[in-house]
Amino acid sequence: MKNMIYNKKQQKIANRIDGDTNISNWKDWKWQMKHAIKTLEAFEYLTDIKFSENERIDLRKTFDKFPLSITPYYLSLIDKSNYKNDPVFKQAFGSIHELTTLKSEINDPLSEDSDSPVEGITHRYPDRVLFHVSNVCAMYCRHCTRKRKVGDTDHIPLKEQLKTGIQYIADTPQVRDVLLSGGDPFMLSDEMIDWLLSEISQIPHVEVIRIGTRIPVVLPYRITDNLISILKKYQPLWINTHFNHPHEITLSSKEALAKLADAGFPLGNQSVLLADVNDCPKIIKSLCHKLVKNRVRPYYLYQCDLSEGLSHFRTPIGKGIEIMESLIGHTSGFARPTYVIDAPGGGGKIPLMPNYLISWSSHKVVLRNYEGVITTYQEPDNYVSNLCDGNCDKCKLELDIREGEEYESVGIERLLSDDNETICLVPEDNDRLQRRTDNETENV
Ligand SMILES: *Cc1c(COP(=O)(O)O)cnc(C)c1O
Repeated sequence: MKNMIYNKKQQKIANRIDGDTNISNWKDWKWQMKHAIKTLEAFEYLTDIKFSENERIDLRKTFDKFPLSITPYYLSLIDKSNYKNDPVFKQAFGSIHELTTLKSEINDPLSEDSDSPVEGITHRYPDRVLFHVSNVCAMYCRHCTRKRKVGDTDHIPLKEQLKTGIQYIADTPQVRDVLLSGGDPFMLSDEMIDWLLSEISQIPHVEVIRIGTRIPVVLPYRITDNLISILKKYQPLWINTHFNHPHEITLSSKEALAKLADAGFPLGNQSVLLADVNDCPKIIKSLCHKLVKNRVRPYYLYQCDLSEGLSHFRTPIGKGIEIMESLIGHTSGFARPTYVIDAPGGGGKIPLMPNYLISWSSHKVVLRNYEGVITTYQEPDNYVSNLCDGNCDKCKLELDIREGEEYESVGIERLLSDDNETICLVPEDNDRLQRRTDNETENV
């Protein structure tokens, strides 16, 4: 039993890869990477799934454009008897639909490249940056939002390249939160991860580091004791992973999550809403429940991006709202993610949810709950609003601003602020305002 791989399916795949394989090979992440399935032939050989000659032609075309790479572990989760409907198969294997490009699809829908001050950094929000530290992933998700880059230059960046990003963070004092992404940051060697975290954590204004990784899902054996002992040196470190379906939560992934949680890292999960994979309230609810049982808090549920080749994965936004309707109130507040759409063009994440505020008057608001009960909330009639002129020293509310920073309010926040005269926000190229005289336009 000791030398056995977890189950017969995995044993069979391992034997076909290499007759001498034992459990310590299977659980060696480097062995898994070395034997990643990258061709149609290898896939057919290891799974006994056979495609027709026509299907093969289509699939080869697909993989020429968007390459294939699946770890033996993730491959072993596919249910061969029903693979066409299998959520793991659909996320890992791909289909000819990827070659369909719609007019609305954009090469870089989130404008990550244009919001990039230096190579590797996307600086979109005021106080945090996304740092692409690796081009490599253990498995190529077919729904990857950075599909344009998948398999591009599958190399680990050199320290020299990462130093540019680190320098940018060091030179930008408003950055208090650094999100390491990729590719997958855990594809870097232990030594490199140690070096990178040490460099970033030495920057005085960086308060937290986050790692976005799919490793616990596709290559859980990468979470080794040595990796944990390195990561532990750099608290506070938040780790977000990417489970999309309850079938992905296995004995192996549970072990990886337990190691991370036991080491004290807050764990979150970012799912993508995918047609025919998890576009069902019951599936998402079951996923969320399994996540919290493993100490992972559902963080975001993403609307699928407008990247090229993802049209067959996209659902209408209404599906996401329906799913959120089935979660809010029906299950624990910490077991539900925030449903977000990442604004095409680079506006950042926009939260979406059903409407709960139905109507209001000057002194009452009408709300509805998850059961459809309609209720009212009486507004206070003695509330005196603290008019805010931005002068915190004179304010009666206690705010220790020694650590706070002065900043200018943005967007809708500015419209709500008392010390800013802006009364409306108007697109730059608004025709109506361009017809006005310059003088008048200034008053907007
Ligand atoms: C998602 C994202 C972040 C982090 O956003 P949070 O809402 O703080 O999790 C930061 N930068 C970019 C470019 C992002 O896409």
